[in-house]
Amino acid sequence: MGGGDPVSDVFDRVVGQESAVVHLRAAARAPVHAYLLVGPPGTGRRTAALALAAALLCPRGGCGECEVCARVTAGVHPDVAVVEREGAFLGIDQAREIRRLAMRTPNEGPRKVIVIPEFHLAQDAVPALLKVVEEPPPSTVFVILADHVSPELVTIASRCVRIDFGPLPAELLVETLVAEGIDRAVAVDVADASGGRLDRARLLASDPGFAARRAAWRAVPSRLDGSGATVAVVAAELVDLLGSAAVAPLTSRHAAEVAEMEERVKRSGERGSGRKVLADRHRRELRRLRTDELRYGLAVLAGVYRDALVERRVDGAAALAGLDALQQVAENLIHNPGETLLLQSLLLRLPPVRATARVSTGT
Ligand SMILES: [Zn+2]
Repeated sequence: MGGGDPVSDVFDRVVGQESAVVHLRAAARAPVHAYLLVGPPGTGRRTAALALAAALLCPRGGCGECEVCARVTAGVHPDVAVVEREGAFLGIDQAREIRRLAMRTPNEGPRKVIVIPEFHLAQDAVPALLKVVEEPPPSTVFVILADHVSPELVTIASRCVRIDFGPLPAELLVETLVAEGIDRAVAVDVADASGGRLDRARLLASDPGFAARRAAWRAVPSRLDGSGATVAVVAAELVDLLGSAAVAPLTSRHAAEVAEMEERVKRSGERGSGRKVLADRHRRELRRLRTDELRYGLAVLAGVYRDALVERRVDGAAALAGLDALQQVAENLIHNPGETLLLQSLLLRLPPVRATARVSTGT
C-alpha cells in the first residue's frame, strides 16, 4: 500500500517473505539466467517461483490480473515448465528433459521459465545440469527451489542468484487465515499443525475431519499395551485415516481449478490450456497428501511423548528411545512407501503412556 512499491502485483501472493519479495521484484525488472530459492517447505517458494515466472512473461511485468499472469499462476502456461521429480530423487532422465526444455523455442513470447522444485534431491542430476543452468539460451530463465544447499549443490548454486525464504511464524499463519475468513480458533489449531506451511494450514482449515484425525493420533500412545495384536489394529486404523485425510477439500479445490481451466478454454481455446499439466499436478498433490498426513501424525505422536515425559506419565528411557524412533522414521519417510509395515514396526518401538502421573516415579 505505501512506499514506492506498486500498489498490487503478482508478488502479493507470496505471504510473509518481504525481503525475498523485494529481491523477486528486482529480478523481474532485470532478470538473469538463473535463480535459486532456498528455504524450508511450505514457505511460499513455489508460489514465488510462479509469481516470478508470471512477472517475466506478463506484458505488464507481473500485473497479477491479465490472462498471462492467470495462466502462469494456475500452472498451465506452456512457456512455464515445472519439472517435478518422478522417483525419490530428481534423476538423469529428468535432467535430460530439463536440457531439452531449455533448448526449445518459447511457444508464445520471447521467454520461457523452467522451474525445478526440490533441487536438494538432485544429487545424480546435478553434473548433467551444470552447463545448461550456467549458460542457458537467452530465452530461458531457471527458477530452482531447494530446502537447503548441500555440498553437491554448491557449484550450481554459485551460478544462480540466491533468494532466501524463512519459515513462517505461527502468528503470521493465523493472521493470514483469519484475514481469509477462517474462524480464529480453527486458524490457531491448524497453524500449529501445519509445520509453518501456509499451503497445508489452508488445506487443514477447510477439512472438517482434521480435529478427529488429530485426536486419533494423540490417543495412540495410551492404546499401546506392548502386544503385537494391538499394534496391528492401531496401525490398520491409522492407514485408513491416511487414506481419508483432507482428500475432500483437496479434490474440491482441484475441481475449482478444472472449472477455471474450462472457462479459459471457452474463451481462448484448447491450445495452451495446460489440461495435462493440471491433471498431473492434481495426481501428485493427492499422493503427497498422504505423506504430509503421515509426517503430521508422527509429529503429533512425538508431542504426546514429550508432554508425557515432562509429566512423568511414561518410562523415561523408553520414551526417549521412542522419540528417537519417531525422528528416524520422519527423516526417512521419503524412502519408505509401505505405510502399514512402517507404522507397525514403529508402534512396536513406542512405549505406552499413562493417563496420570505415577506417584512414585520409576527409573
Ligand atoms: Zn499480468
